Amino acid sequence: MNQKLAENIAEFHWALQVMDTMDAGLVVLDLEHRVCAWNTFMQAYSGIASVDVMGRNLFDVVPNLPTRWLKRKLEASLRLKTRTFSCWEDRPYIFKFNNFSPVSAGMATMFQNVTITPLKSLNGEYNYLCVIINDVSDIAKSKLSLRASNEKLSHLSRTDRLTALFNRGYWEQQLQEEFICTRQRGGTASLVMFDIDHFKKVNDEHGHLAGDQVLREMSQLLLQTKRQSDIAGRYGGEEFGVILPNTSADMALYFTERIRQRVADNAVNTEQAEIACTISLGVCEWSESLGDHSQWIALADQALYHAKNTGRNRTCVYNHAMQQPQAAP
Ligand code: GH3
Ligand code: MG
Ligand code: MG
Repeated sequence: MNQKLAENIAEFHWALQVMDTMDAGLVVLDLEHRVCAWNTFMQAYSGIASVDVMGRNLFDVVPNLPTRWLKRKLEASLRLKTRTFSCWEDRPYIFKFNNFSPVSAGMATMFQNVTITPLKSLNGEYNYLCVIINDVSDIAKSKLSLRASNEKLSHLSRTDRLTALFNRGYWEQQLQEEFICTRQRGGTASLVMFDIDHFKKVNDEHGHLAGDQVLREMSQLLLQTKRQSDIAGRYGGEEFGVILPNTSADMALYFTERIRQRVADNAVNTEQAEIACTISLGVCEWSESLGDHSQWIALADQALYHAKNTGRNRTCVYNHAMQQPQAAP
């Protein structure tokens, strides 16, 4: 054997070894998508032996490939004579492999970043494409769990621990947005503030734990009674706020009467006793004369305290034309 040929064979031999020991999938395709190389990684994860795929059309042998998308991608890479990429965040995988390697970080399906490179032949033509599949399951797992933690954190940061309603900070932010929106849209909206009657007595007679249960169950009742688009929050100890977008004060009264009645009718069964409660409510319809959302709260609160002062277990609507809160008929 001449010296040069021996050297070439040796080089080819170790190039093959590199291909087979690399911790990534390597596939070489010709212009008809026939497989010209299929390394050990691909054999191990696909379960398709090299002899069963070599020389055959990739799309005939490998099931569940995103055929249209991948053909377009291969074609683009050849046409532009440049590398193209696919990231797991856009397309989690191209070859559907089950994970069994330690890098998989417990993910059942392998997440993949894929690079497609057109290969230049000795004559300068591009007749082959190299597809490299990298297992990025570990990166995907940490990124996905970070995303989930952030979502949980953001949920917690806007939720009241006891009642699971929006907490005051987040609810007020929503009110501020509704205030601005209503001003820009020129529509209407109503704000309802309500407070449990004689709640101190509930705590005094039955204890704080029973009081907490009343707050929780009342919040559930509130969630069941309001419309999906209404925004309910715990404003303070036993005071709640509900934003009713696109709702006049007259219409808001349907809601306040429904919740008032339901609270009065649904005594809470605690270990200590059955606790019956009532609530008093104040309604204030949005008006151009309101300076900001805090004033909106102040006027709804004024109506609420009017309800307290005129007998409790009732709703009062703030009437800005009269500059005095009016009791609902
Ligand atoms: P009114 O009809 O005038 O509203 O009478 P009230 O007794 O409800 O009035 P007040 O606002 O003075 O008292 C509210 C009570 O609510 C006082 C406080 O101990 C209780 N409270 C506030 N937050 C909580 C809580 O998270 N859990 C429990 N159990 N009680 C709370
Ligand atoms: Mg109270
Ligand atoms: Mg109160």
